[in-house]
Amino acid sequence: MCLGCQTAYYHNYFVKNSMRYYYDGDLPAIIQVGEHQFVERRLVNMWCMDTNIAWCVYLLNVHSLVNLYISQEVFHKLCPYL
Ligand SMILES: [Zn+2]
Repeated sequence: MCLGCQTAYYHNYFVKNSMRYYYDGDLPAIIQVGEHQFVERRLVNMWCMDTNIAWCVYLLNVHSLVNLYISQEVFHKLCPYL
């Protein structure tokens, strides 16, 4: 419940002046994520972006390691005495 604007926020709607308003389209600027926890939508978007970037970096590292192992394996087949 925001005391400033007398609005109660829920996962998919908010209540103001005894009226329930469902979110349609864009999320509100501030989202209630717990009983007493609110998060700005901009921060949520940043977390989403960070997660996506972390996955991309992880996949790039896996790709590099696979390339490294495959190239070493091929190298040893070609030059077994080295
Ligand atoms: Zn408010």
